[in-house]
Amino acid sequence: MTLALHGVGVSRGYAIGRTYVLYRDQPEVVEYAVPRRFLEGEIARFRDAVLEAKRQLRTIRDRIPENVSADITAFIDTHLLMLEDSTLTEATVELIGERQSNAEWALKTQRDRVVRVFDEMDDPYLRTRRDDVDHVVNRILRILLKSDDGPAPDGTDGRLEGRVLVADDLTPADTVLMQHHGIAAFVTEYGGPLSHTAILARNLGIPAVIGVRSARRYLSADETIIVDGVQGVVLSAGDDSVLDHYRHRRLRERRERTRLGRLREAPAITRDNVQIGLHANIELPEEVEQVLLAGATGVGLYRTEVLYLNRATPPSEEEQFETFLQVVEELDGRPLTIRTLDLGADKQMDGGRQSGPVATNPALGLRAIRLCLRELDLFRPQIRAILRISARGPVRMMIPMICTVNEMTQVRRLVREEKDALSREGLPFDENIPLGAMIEVPAAAIAAAMFTPYVDFLSIGTNDLIQYTLAIDRIDDEVGYLYDPLHPAVLKLVHEVISAGARSKVPVGMCGEMAGDPRFTRLLLGLGLREFSMHPSVLPEIKFIVRDSDIRHLRDLSQRILHCTSPDELAGLMVRIEH
Ligand code: PEP
Ligand code: MG
Repeated sequence: MTLALHGVGVSRGYAIGRTYVLYRDQPEVVEYAVPRRFLEGEIARFRDAVLEAKRQLRTIRDRIPENVSADITAFIDTHLLMLEDSTLTEATVELIGERQSNAEWALKTQRDRVVRVFDEMDDPYLRTRRDDVDHVVNRILRILLKSDDGPAPDGTDGRLEGRVLVADDLTPADTVLMQHHGIAAFVTEYGGPLSHTAILARNLGIPAVIGVRSARRYLSADETIIVDGVQGVVLSAGDDSVLDHYRHRRLRERRERTRLGRLREAPAITRDNVQIGLHANIELPEEVEQVLLAGATGVGLYRTEVLYLNRATPPSEEEQFETFLQVVEELDGRPLTIRTLDLGADKQMDGGRQSGPVATNPALGLRAIRLCLRELDLFRPQIRAILRISARGPVRMMIPMICTVNEMTQVRRLVREEKDALSREGLPFDENIPLGAMIEVPAAAIAAAMFTPYVDFLSIGTNDLIQYTLAIDRIDDEVGYLYDPLHPAVLKLVHEVISAGARSKVPVGMCGEMAGDPRFTRLLLGLGLREFSMHPSVLPEIKFIVRDSDIRHLRDLSQRILHCTSPDELAGLMVRIEH
């Protein structure tokens, strides 16, 4: 019998593979092989983590006021004793050596062994001690996972290669790590379609279904399953006919891609001869290959924050410069739009494991340009790296989450200061590097005309614009059903930005997911959009639609859609404009 679990397909495509189930209630641990010559270092890393765990516990114990019940201190002493106990530590060291695996995995394996013994005990009190084991193990794991000097997971190791990762949720930081493992697909129990995790999955070309509640309850480890990223369904591969059906679909999909791939060299020009810019969104330099294969005009959105994920300290100016150089060189003269750091909300440097107060509404908090203007030590090196790279190719600088003119003038002042500093140092840069703002906050869209004197271009970030306009958290699948790019309010905002740009001759592009959704291409063309930026995988399909469109025939229909207030009528008009 075939079991079908439903969620939201966020990254198209089909995958068939064995499951790899992750449990997040404990820190996430992935096994990877450690070459023999690094084993000693790995063991030392583990021992250091144990020492650090002891140090932390002693500090906690020392801080306990004297009048506090002895039970609490005893509880910490128990944990300290466990850290001394060879059952946990020495056995782990042996496992690292025997299996040549990373310390995290060895520790988790040993934890499972110990817990099994506790579970088999009749005594309910002793059974509860397993929680203590977990606390101690998790403390060490967190220390290990935070240390960035351990050997990096090795993609060639292959233990995750071709597997379907099943987890409760993944952070963008996790998703970036996963790409090195050749994962076939993602299935998560939570997460919204516009989450950065979903976007990353799409850009990495990995089929993904999210919001599959209780997936880990129904799917067992190592089970072969089918992931249908188009319909948002996960199927157990119990039935051969279902498997055959999906193998066939996968084949058809590949053929269709090859057919569209032939458009690579063809220009993106409409039937009535209007040139359209079709750019790509990237997160990592490695994706440039895909950008070129898709035949993109350039890169319209390079999300630089990915460089800052999974590490304790930010990348230096030099590291950023070298990374950008790789992208510019591979783009070989095609324009590159570098977005400045958009950290905060769901994108945290260390994957959200850091301590400190958690904002109640992180999406409304200190994120993106707000964070950069607060933390100039973080921002200035990036500005310098972008300026320096502008001497090597056509580069634009784009600022996320702009909300006030004051933010834009502050950025301009900082850019000026860094340009002057570079001149003094004799380092080259493009004096006329275009500086643009992303319009992602409804206030900025309504007042788009206010920004045009301060920018060289605007780019509409529909992911955040929709999140803020419709008050739906982009990572919360409970409200994902409200996500609607065709909501009249969203369309009005998009139209306002395009019109404000046209009035003041400031180019306007769009780099949110709406730009890469084939259902909206003709509508956006009709509304006056001339620059689209999207994940490279959909670019050929969008190009096909552009080449098959006549904008003269789209204007009236687009205006009717823009002013339509009846959902039924809107559905009818959309069918007409799409075909
Ligand atoms: C957007 O908000 O539409 C956008 C492109 O930026 P991000 O998805 O990275 O927030
Ligand atoms: Mg955004």
